[in-house]
Amino acid sequence: KEGERTYLIGGNWKCNGTTESLTALIKEFNELGPIPANVEVAICAPDIYIPLLGEKLRDDIAIGAQNCGVNEKQGAYTGEICADQLIDAGVVWVIIGHSERREGFVMAGEDEMLCAKKLKVALDKGLKVMFAIGEKKEEREAGTTMEVCAKQLAPAAELLNEEDWANVAIAYEPVWAIGTGLTATPEMAQETHASIREWVAEHVSADVAKAVRIQYGGSMKGANAKDLLAQPDIDGGLIGGASLKADFFNVINGAP
Ligand code: PGA
Repeated sequence: KEGERTYLIGGNWKCNGTTESLTALIKEFNELGPIPANVEVAICAPDIYIPLLGEKLRDDIAIGAQNCGVNEKQGAYTGEICADQLIDAGVVWVIIGHSERREGFVMAGEDEMLCAKKLKVALDKGLKVMFAIGEKKEEREAGTTMEVCAKQLAPAAELLNEEDWANVAIAYEPVWAIGTGLTATPEMAQETHASIREWVAEHVSADVAKAVRIQYGGSMKGANAKDLLAQPDIDGGLIGGASLKADFFNVINGAP
């Protein structure tokens, strides 16, 4: 890839698994083949299973979380887990801004500014972030895909310094493709990834645009990973359903 970007494949286990089922899955992953040198892999587990990953998961897969508190310090924030605690537990990557939190089951939803603030806090504390953005079905149909992505990126561009971006990957996840089996075609995804990179060049810097990794997410699996990852601006994936199976390794091995 231009700018020598390496691939980033994230597994998003969402709210799935038990100690028993995830222990078995980790064992299966540990026995699968080597991870290609040009691919970085992280698994974002439910917080309570992070110690299980720390104890059992192969060392060449980094540990990730799926959310982190906006609070900079520990304290009276019932139900939250803060960046320092994630780091203490061995977490390297965290997903911020997943559509299921922006506007999904979370009652009030996480708005653009809250997601950007969480992103900034996480980076300041030393985490790496997969920052998720993407449009809904009606927004794509209305032709506003890039407008929506820009609206989600703008507060991040405002709060982050140029150096912060070294620890950010943008996860482009069209909401209509998540968990539905409907994947954006490689051409469709590439078009949006290129627009996102252009937006970053204009609103952050040309250097950041060249270096930042843009992952695709939404029903990505072994069967379609190769074609998606071959696109010039697709630098990885954020994988939900398929990361709960051995097929996750077909995605990893789909990197050219
Ligand atoms: P999916 O989820 O792969 O199950 O579509 C992707 C995601 O939500 O990150």
